Amino acid sequence: MLRDDALAIVDTQYPQTADATTAAFESHAEKSSTPLIDLLINTHHHGDHTGGNAKLLDRSNRSVAHAECVRLQRVTAEDGATPATAATTFDDAWSTDLADETISLNHDGPAHTGGDATIFFENANVVHTGDLVFNRVIPFIDVDGGALVENWITTLETLHDRYDDDTLFIFGHGHPDHGLTGSRAGLHRMRDYLTALDEFVRAKRANGVTVEEMKKETNLPGFEAYSSEDWPLPLAQNLEAVYREQTGDTPATAS
Ligand SMILES: [Zn+2]
Repeated sequence: MLRDDALAIVDTQYPQTADATTAAFESHAEKSSTPLIDLLINTHHHGDHTGGNAKLLDRSNRSVAHAECVRLQRVTAEDGATPATAATTFDDAWSTDLADETISLNHDGPAHTGGDATIFFENANVVHTGDLVFNRVIPFIDVDGGALVENWITTLETLHDRYDDDTLFIFGHGHPDHGLTGSRAGLHRMRDYLTALDEFVRAKRANGVTVEEMKKETNLPGFEAYSSEDWPLPLAQNLEAVYREQTGDTPATAS
């Protein structure tokens, strides 16, 4: 969110992109207040969303993330490094006013990770979903980071009903042909993928198929277009993640 008198950013991408991010905002001549960023928000702990924190937090007045996002940043940091984390954490909901906007964060339980936040810009009627939506591509399901597909499905229903047909959604990742924004119909598409995935694994298990055999599948029936040559994430990761969830093979620290 960029106004003449206010700047809020959602996620920080990578360390290598942080300078370009600040340069882009510094060039916005009207934004003269210090620090550069009024509010920095992390949607979850993954490196492609928090990697630029170290540089951008220095330029931020306030910062906020879910408590589990910060904890997961610490436990997944390499070589005992101290990661740059948001100064403020929340558990269920958090809200603030900035310029003419009200910005509300919600955590509806574990989904893509254990510490997901969705960000609602109330007056603009814009929601950033973080990685709760991979727009028509194979998602990443971070079981070791507290992901829970069962609740992810429920959360997508909740979000669909919380907002309206005019709400613009910003998705965490997307197929190049379909982009990173869309209506709330995108939430139901993501729900349908996860539901089909869950049912596919359940049916295979009922037929005695092992997880190793299951992981040879490269297409989920009905969602063949989600597996594309240009997309790096394989269906096998999703199948193993759901298999682990259904069989209870998940980290005890996930809660
Ligand atoms: Zn992610």
